[in-house]
Parts: sequence; C-alpha cells; structure tokens
Amino acid sequence: MIKEQLQRIGRELAAAHVRLIAVSKTQPVAAIREAYGAGQRAFGESRPQALLAKAAQLPADIEWHFIGHLQTNKVKLVTGVAHTIHSGDSPKLLQALNDEARRRHLQQRCLLQVHIAQEPSKFGFTPDSLRRLSAEGFFTTLPGLQITGLMGMATFTDDTAQIRAEFRLLRQLFTEIKQAAFPATPAFCELSMGMSNDYRVAIEEGSTMVRIGTLLFTD
Ligand SMILES: *Cc1c(COP(=O)(O)O)cnc(C)c1O
Repeated sequence: MIKEQLQRIGRELAAAHVRLIAVSKTQPVAAIREAYGAGQRAFGESRPQALLAKAAQLPADIEWHFIGHLQTNKVKLVTGVAHTIHSGDSPKLLQALNDEARRRHLQQRCLLQVHIAQEPSKFGFTPDSLRRLSAEGFFTTLPGLQITGLMGMATFTDDTAQIRAEFRLLRQLFTEIKQAAFPATPAFCELSMGMSNDYRVAIEEGSTMVRIGTLLFTD
C-alpha cells in the first residue's frame, strides 16, 4: 500500500520536478523501512528524540528532515544529524543552530519558517520580520548555517482560494528575500510548502519540496 501510494505520488511530483519528504513522524520503523524498500530516501520527523531513535535503526543513506518546532535546548541533538531543518523560526534558534554547527565544524542546512496561515498557534517569522532581518544583514552573521529557502504551512481549510493566496504570498516573499539577502547564493533555492491536503495547490504555486505524511502512510 505504501509502495503504491509512493509510486502514484512520486509520478505526479516527478512530472513537476518537486521532491517528496515522506513525513514519518507518526510512523513506526517498519513503515519507514517499507517506504525505503520502495525507494524513498527523504523522511520528515518532528521530534528530536524520535528522529535519533529511528535514524539509529534505519539505513545510513536516509536523509532526515526535521520539520517540527525545535527548542534551543534540543539543538545539539539534531545539528549534523538532520539533512535540513525546515523549522528555523526565530533569530534565537538560528543563532543557537549556527553556534552548534560552528562548534562541530559543519554547515547545517536550514529553512526559514514563515507564518502564512490564519491560525494563531503556528510558529514562524512574519513576512515583515524577515524583511527587517534581511535589511539588517542578520542572515550574513550565520556562517554555520546554509539557509536554503523558506518553509510555510497554509491554513487548514477547504477554501482552496485562501490556501492558494497564502502559498502565493510565500512564493513572492521567497523572491523578495532572495534578492534582499541571498542574491549571490544559488543554494537559496527551496520552497518547502504543501502537505497531504494541499500539495497540488502548493505545486501550482511553485513548491520545490512537499511534506506528505497521511496520504502516504494511511489507506
Ligand atoms: C505533520 C506535518 C506534515 C505532514 O502532514 P500530513 O497532513 O500528514 O501530510 C507536514 N509538515 C509539517 C510541518 C508537519 O508537522
């Protein structure tokens, strides 16, 4: 079942040149192994301890993406283990990740999470705070990080027009921030947007990576 879903979604994403992050945060190791057996290599986890426990039991060529809110006191656990941290959501967290990466002599890939939804509870930078930090040169002070783009979650709603507007805003902000803060950084090229219920709209609006869990792992 996982294999059939992977193939079906995989074909759709390949046609659009979009990468699939298989969100395995609620899945046991056996399910991840099954997806791995069907060729999937990029998986998304939202808790540091779970990521470490699963990584220890699974093949080393898996690319782990950290997608949950990361507390600064857990930065040591995921730095250098996660291929990309999608949830860089505050200056304080970015600074802590930068410091840890520098201590370990590595560069940590990280996305800037932007709050685009109407729900108040979600983490992330506001568009204006990203503009301000770009203008202040904040992103040039983080040599331990390779900031590869933006991540966002749309409002959980059936209103496709609203979802589309939110993704479009994120896409426009990506272009704006790239020009303002990363003009000579080809690595700043990712737009992580789209989940099980809105990934098609996200792709139409320019997503380069979708994070899909439910659709993949449940039948
Ligand atoms: C859980 C989660 C997903 C996947 O959601 P589904 O609806 O299961 O596809 C994607 N992104 C983030 C940040 C998540 O926490």
